[in-house]
Amino acid sequence: MTPQAIADILEKLYPAPPIPLKHNNAFELLIAVMLSAQCTDARVNQITPKLFKRAATPKAMEQLEQKEVEEIIKPLGFFRQKARSILEISKTLEKEYGGEVPASLEKLERLRGVGHKTASVVMCQAFGEPAFPVDTHIFRSARRWGLSQGASVERVEKDLKALFSIKTWAKLHLQIIYFSREYCPARGHCVAECPICSQL
Ligand code: SF4
Repeated sequence: MTPQAIADILEKLYPAPPIPLKHNNAFELLIAVMLSAQCTDARVNQITPKLFKRAATPKAMEQLEQKEVEEIIKPLGFFRQKARSILEISKTLEKEYGGEVPASLEKLERLRGVGHKTASVVMCQAFGEPAFPVDTHIFRSARRWGLSQGASVERVEKDLKALFSIKTWAKLHLQIIYFSREYCPARGHCVAECPICSQL
């Protein structure tokens, strides 16, 4: 099956994939994506409304006590590290970027606790810039579909970017995530019932 045929199936299944993490602005999205590391989006969505009710801007957030942030985000795991990152990110945004989230991959990647994938998600979902963040679901599906033999997320991202039009990257990223969660789990899948592999 060609990459385009896979994209066509995904387009039929998920014509308008919503952004999974609740947010009202780029700052909230950045924090939510950072919190989603090693955790499900559903859990993050249960916790972030409480956090953003306490502080919806970097200025308000940096004034919170680490203990209070830890208490709110505790159910998400790695809460000490993540609380420290939230406060550090907020301080840096306030000090260096006038309280705004910079629309720059390089600047985002320099923030504490923000890696390439988180920065890429913010670039495409908050700023509409082309990016193809590869998470564990996309990594798995891309390799199963033969779109990449890459052994690292960096390599798979490079291969996917080469296979698909730049205009489709942000949407495809979401479509593959939704597909993988629904049909293509790490363990246990049914080839005969699968909309993609049953056609391969
Ligand atoms: S059969 Fe479906 S669920 Fe299994 S690897 Fe293929 S796409 Fe994924």
